[in-house]
Amino acid sequence: MELWFTELQEKGLRLGFKVKDVLFKGRSQYQEVCVYDTVTYGRALMIDDVVMTTEKDEFVYHEMLVHVPMMAHPRPERVLVIGGGDGGAIREVVKHPSVRFAHLVEIDQMVIEASRKYLPQISLALADPRVKITVGDGIEYLKTTSDRYDVIIVDSTDPVGAATGLFAEDFYRSVRNALRPGGIHVSQTESPWFYQELIGQIAGVFRKIFPVYSLYLATVPTYPGNMWSFSMGSLEHSGDIVAPDRYAALGCKYYTPELHAASMVLPKFVQDMIKEDPPRGVPGEAVERPHK
Ligand code: SAM
Repeated sequence: MELWFTELQEKGLRLGFKVKDVLFKGRSQYQEVCVYDTVTYGRALMIDDVVMTTEKDEFVYHEMLVHVPMMAHPRPERVLVIGGGDGGAIREVVKHPSVRFAHLVEIDQMVIEASRKYLPQISLALADPRVKITVGDGIEYLKTTSDRYDVIIVDSTDPVGAATGLFAEDFYRSVRNALRPGGIHVSQTESPWFYQELIGQIAGVFRKIFPVYSLYLATVPTYPGNMWSFSMGSLEHSGDIVAPDRYAALGCKYYTPELHAASMVLPKFVQDMIKEDPPRGVPGEAVERPHK
């Protein structure tokens, strides 16, 4: 009997994975966490039936989420990752020799444990001595911490449940306050195919909060629409790569200095999405999940 996992990505849009084995299935106080061994994408982490990361294509997302802000900063030493419990973002962060302290604030211990056990190639850097793991709400952490960072990365789930507030103006203001001088922030901000309004709203908020705002894209095969967006806010630096010679040490499979620049060249419909003039709503309200 064939076993398939189907993600309902958007209303009327499904993505199916033929499954060889169900490696883990658990429910935390926040969400359902599963790890499947799939025929095409290898092992895959799902949260509430949504694809988080797969062994085959995870490097695209994690390299672009991390190396664009890190390579746009002259010397990133203290880095914060909010969400990212699979460890992929942290793995890319600690590839930078300048990093002295990498702090992961992930709300769900179950995600960390499942990733450690079933996705070792993604989670392995969680054991790096420079990494500190806090199991907690990133929103609350930033409201109360006096810690300051050179780069703050938000690698969250979609804007639903505990992640809703990670897309709100108040949260972005707390991010800005936790940046050191010259600091840079990046958030994954969903697919331009299905989150036009959210991406436009975030553009308006970032332009209010950060001196420099840019949006960049990457192609992630297992994410809805495959085109994925990243919103970057910088206190001082342009967002362009500052020291291409640092690239050789990273051992990337997707990110390159040329791609750093090219990822910010946007299709016309995405340029229009973030134009400064259209009326903006308020980001940070939970999106309506597609009907199951
Ligand atoms: N790359 C994935 C994507 O783009 O959808 C995200 C991967 S990572 C597994 C997302 C993580 O964000 C989850 O483990 C979830 O528990 C965590 N998360 C959601 N809301 C959070 C919050 N308020 N504070 C900290 N972590 C949060």
